[in-house]
Amino acid sequence: MYAADMGRADHLPGDGPTVAIIGGGASGTLAAAQLLRRAAAAVLPLRVVLIDRDGRHGLGRAYSTTYPCHLLNSPAGRMSALPGDPGHLARWAQAEGIAHDGFLARRDYGRYLSGLLADAQRRAWPTAQLSCITADVTSAAQPGPGRPLRLGLAGGAGPVEADIAVLATGSLPPGAPCPVPAGPRYVADPWAPGALDGTGDGRSVIIIGTGLTMLDLAMAVTDANPETVVHAVSRHGLLPREHRGAPVPGHPPVPAIPALAGGPLRLAALVRQVRSAAAQHPGDWQDVIDVLRPQVPALWQRLPAGDQRLFLRRYARYWEVHRHRVPPATAGRIARLRAAGRLHVRSGQIVAASGGPDGVRVSVAHAGTVTDLDAGWLINGTGPAADITAAAGPLLGGLLASGLARPDPLRLGLDADAAGAVIDASGRAGDRIFALGPPLRGTRYETTAITEIASQAEALARHLVTVSPVLARPGSAA
Ligand SMILES: Cc1cc2nc3c(=O)[nH]c(=O)nc-3n(C[C@H](O)[C@H](O)[C@H](O)COP(=O)(O)OP(=O)(O)OC[C@H]3O[C@@H](n4cnc5c(N)ncnc54)[C@H](O)[C@@H]3O)c2cc1C
Repeated sequence: MYAADMGRADHLPGDGPTVAIIGGGASGTLAAAQLLRRAAAAVLPLRVVLIDRDGRHGLGRAYSTTYPCHLLNSPAGRMSALPGDPGHLARWAQAEGIAHDGFLARRDYGRYLSGLLADAQRRAWPTAQLSCITADVTSAAQPGPGRPLRLGLAGGAGPVEADIAVLATGSLPPGAPCPVPAGPRYVADPWAPGALDGTGDGRSVIIIGTGLTMLDLAMAVTDANPETVVHAVSRHGLLPREHRGAPVPGHPPVPAIPALAGGPLRLAALVRQVRSAAAQHPGDWQDVIDVLRPQVPALWQRLPAGDQRLFLRRYARYWEVHRHRVPPATAGRIARLRAAGRLHVRSGQIVAASGGPDGVRVSVAHAGTVTDLDAGWLINGTGPAADITAAAGPLLGGLLASGLARPDPLRLGLDADAAGAVIDASGRAGDRIFALGPPLRGTRYETTAITEIASQAEALARHLVTVSPVLARPGSAA
């Protein structure tokens, strides 16, 4: 385990400039590990400060779960945290003696990430040093040109001075589809620490959303109590597809879609090409999706803004259920819950919600009729917030208000350049504030899974140590 909380906001050990990484989940952890590695290789004294409000350094929201039924949604061969070494995770699991069918438990993956950070910390010391702080960063300001950033912390601690700040703050928590009265029976963020603690009382549970989060929640609450029945509601009622088993040996790989190379792109043409590729490889649509996925950020940037909006409105839900697939073990569990009448999946729009200390009632509109559902609990299991300007907390909201950052044109996240440098209100990419992972959803679309995060962390560390005028020494080429 890395040396957690060895740094206090007012006394950070080590020499050299400071990079403060805000958010200790997978994005922050991998950015920290890559920076430590790069700085040590370049013999660049550096202090890396990893700040997480929940103290979940090395884990974040996805990998702090303690439920063994919560599995990774990609096979181990695609979840290596080190780009260029796809076998790294599988070798780690073997060395740890972890038996698995290709899909590791997410809590094990949390150990893997934490171990990676600990290893980077050990190898980099004393040239580059890591401090972990548990605190909520509520503001970031630059007192003057060329001056370090000043990060304000909730509760009066700090501030932390940093030459560079990296926003690794994850997805913004989802909003409710309609006004929901605040109360103990509404769980607004199921991944907040302890959020599910009361939900195992055997009362029925309504989950908003039918994606991967819903599947995790349904397994967790039905595991906790054999009486629990779940109603999952989304507008389309679509469930994520199941991962196919291992490819048949000797099966020819699906080639990249050639017509997508270069030039301006329209959504209609893209959809046509993808459908045609899937039709040419019947039974292998999963490979078509997987071949397409690494190209998505580049394709996304070639689409006009109107086409991006159309994609979000019309196609995103279909892309998501095909792209974010579930392990066969999860699909089997969900099928059994449905067959036993313990999980009901409904399509419809939640148009009203009410409740008090004893339970909740939601009204679901579908095909011209409205049905009322009563339950003990209502859990929001939908995806990330759709508008950063409405959902940003004090830190991101403050950056937007001060003009140090601006939203991307779709307002899904922050605007940033190819290196992750946050673009300010005047349209200029600065050299002090960077972002990676989910906050870049609007500029890259596919940016939330480990494959993308790991590549971004590596590229960001390379940029900061070898190119950034704030950190890099002339001639440095680590
Ligand atoms: C339940 C779930 C399961 C997933 N499963 C997979 C999977 O199997 N495979 C895959 O590739 N991807 C998966 N993902 C996608 C996931 O987004 C990424 O893998 C990754 O975990 C994202 O990490 P992150 O660090 O960007 O965000 P997070 O894990 O959300 O971490 C962000 C951290 O920043 C902290 N923070 C935010 N704001 C502040 C602030 N102002 N001050 C201090 N701290 C702050 C938060 O408290 C949080 O701990 C899953 C996601 C979820 C939610």
